[in-house]
This record gives sequence, C-alpha cells and structure tokens, in this order.
Amino acid sequence: MNITEGVYSLDCAGYGHVFYLEDEQALIDTGLPNKGNRILQELSCLGIKPEDIRRILLTHHDVDHAGNVRFLEEKTGAEVFIGKEDLPYLMNQAARPGIKKYLQKFLHVVPPKYCKPLEAPGNSVAIQMYHTPGHTPGHHVFLYGGVLFAGDLFRIEGTHIKKIPSRMNWNGELLANSISLLKKIPFTLVCPSHGNPMTREKLLPLIEQLWGNQS
Ligand SMILES: [Zn+2]
Repeated sequence: MNITEGVYSLDCAGYGHVFYLEDEQALIDTGLPNKGNRILQELSCLGIKPEDIRRILLTHHDVDHAGNVRFLEEKTGAEVFIGKEDLPYLMNQAARPGIKKYLQKFLHVVPPKYCKPLEAPGNSVAIQMYHTPGHTPGHHVFLYGGVLFAGDLFRIEGTHIKKIPSRMNWNGELLANSISLLKKIPFTLVCPSHGNPMTREKLLPLIEQLWGNQS
C-alpha cells in the first residue's frame, strides 16, 4: 500500500506492518519471523532490489518487529539500528521481560549480526527519531515527510485507537508520558505498526479521551 509518495506499507508481513521509505532506502521494522522472502518479493514488485535497502530501523525489540532482521540484514547488506535501551534484548544479551521471554523462545528471532544505536553515524538525517519509552525501554517513533511511524504506542482499529494490553508494556506510566508528547511532534498522518493510518486531526482527540487525565 502506498501511504504517500515514496512511502510504502508492505502487506505481506502479517501481523505488524513493515514500511519502506524509498528516498531514504530505509525499512522500518521487519515483521514476524519467516516472512523475509515475502518482504523481498513485495519490494521487488515495487521495483526495489535487496541492494537498494541501506538501513533497517527498528521501532523496538519485539518479535513481530524484529522477526526477519537477520535474514534481511544478510540479503540486503543494510545496517541495522535500534534504540540503545533495546539493544541487549535484540541481541539476546538480556532476556526479554515477562511474557516476551516465552514469545522469543517460541518464535525464535535470530538477532542481527551487527546493530547500532539509532543515534549512530550512518543513519538517515531526513528521518527524525523520538525516544518514546514505555512499551519497551528503547521504543522509538520515526517522523518522515509528515508521516509518523508510531510503532506500538497504540493500535488503530477502524476509527478507534486501542491501548496495547498492559502485560505487553514494560512501563505503563512512561508509555502514557510518551503518548502525551505526540502532540508536540509535527506529523499530519500517523501509521501504527498494527492497524490503519489516521490523520492528526482524528488521532489527537482520541488520545486525549484515552490518556488525557494521565498527561
Ligand atoms: Zn511491541
């Protein structure tokens, strides 16, 4: 699906979205495990070759976002970036907290060979990054061309936003604080990892309804 010019949401990744920013040669997230070939096939239908992809940016370490990171790193030669607080979990240097420990065992995400913190040299300067801790310690959202890639701050179902179940969040208080800061980010359209895009005008009042008394 074409979000805006040169910004694609790949439909093949199953549960969570994978986005591709053509001018930045950047993938955002990589979907559930074992979808790597399908991701490359869908990119190929858009005229994008594996070697066109220069960077893979992960919103956070969860298995449905990092599932094909190693496969895509190897096939594309891209550099991988993630928020520094999520690096130990992605690289299996620390056990994912709570239920996520078992998801990792069950779904078996292979860590990338190399991964840099998002602030490292080599990352895109056109994509603005915001540290939004709460769902995970190193969760980030990305802003590019007015489109905000919001990761797992919330889901969008139809015309509603839904909270991520609290057992899936690392720190609910920090998450509410991160969400309250969204109004300061100059986006016009938000793309969550789960659900459809929504305009700023529709999103901000819904956020106020759900989290307003906490912010
Ligand atoms: Zn998540």
